[in-house]
Amino acid sequence: MEKVVIIGTGCAGLTAALYTARANLNPLVLTGVMPGGLLTTTSIVENFPGFPEGIDGYELMTRMQKQAERFGARIKFATVEAVEVSKRPFTLTVDGDPIQAETIIIASGAGHRHLGLESEDQLEKKGVTYCATCDGALPMFRNQPLVVVGGGDSACEEATYLTRFASTVYLVHRRDTLRASKIMAERTLAHPRIKPVWDSVVTEVLDVKQDKVTGVRLKNLKTNAESVLDCAGVFVAIGHLPNTQLFKGVIDMDENGYIIPKEGSITNVPGIFVAGDCSDHVYRQAITAAGMGCAAAIDVERYLAALNQ
Ligand code: NAP
Repeated sequence: MEKVVIIGTGCAGLTAALYTARANLNPLVLTGVMPGGLLTTTSIVENFPGFPEGIDGYELMTRMQKQAERFGARIKFATVEAVEVSKRPFTLTVDGDPIQAETIIIASGAGHRHLGLESEDQLEKKGVTYCATCDGALPMFRNQPLVVVGGGDSACEEATYLTRFASTVYLVHRRDTLRASKIMAERTLAHPRIKPVWDSVVTEVLDVKQDKVTGVRLKNLKTNAESVLDCAGVFVAIGHLPNTQLFKGVIDMDENGYIIPKEGSITNVPGIFVAGDCSDHVYRQAITAAGMGCAAAIDVERYLAALNQ
């Protein structure tokens, strides 16, 4: 019987692991399919306090894991397939095996939002990607024009990173101002190899027949004009979707799937807590996720202490 099972090893999950481990709760931490979470796909993280020169996202997550393990957190590379919460203890099915837990912290994060085009799905991994840090250096993208879709911090970060490899980076955004923070937006627009394409959406990724990306079909939302922009890759950076499908109908969530806690990290099911991007569509920063992980760990500790009184 586990005292606490933490689902997810992003900033929220690993901070919860650190705190519950230091509280002698011997946490079991399940990685899911992306150990370290989305931050491992970022290059330099410049806004996590304590690293004045910035720190590589992968390294930051590796350090967080080591720190949690130092106090006894057990990290298991495994995926949760089902969770039964109607009976106590809770039962999680993890890679086919049952695990019983007194408490659960959901820190399952969020995945990349897709454009929702058939051609996008058909050309995924054949030039369509959701991660410049992971795929940008591939030979097929070198010295080629590339398209980044989106106007937020992620899109700016992807576009800037891709200037290392691309001949030109076209930043296709559906409005004429970026949503990104001022510093990121200014840095991006000042880059000589990044060209913004305003008020435009991708309506098709070309060319499914050739089984590789050769361009995108664009529609200008102000003029309705259609055009084709040649490129060798499409990097989609239009936000995220919470990884909460497992808990649909059981844990309260909004219409987009973000978990809505009752108070702090406490969900509508006593003994189940939440932290990080799977419940936060407002701040979504590494440091806020870490803070939420800390809060969830403290809530778990208090809940278990009250149960055992
Ligand atoms: P975001 O801020 O939600 O931005 C998503 C962008 O995609 C928006 O510009 C949005 O357009 C556009 N978009 C959404 N759906 C679209 C669609 N179907 N078709 C075309 N465009 C679409 O997401 P994010 O950039 O991933 O950032 C998420 C959070 O992480 C933010 O809080 C951000 O500050 C943070 N973040 C921080 C850093 C950093 O500080 N280093 C790096 C990355 C992310 P509209 O603007 O018109 O809505």
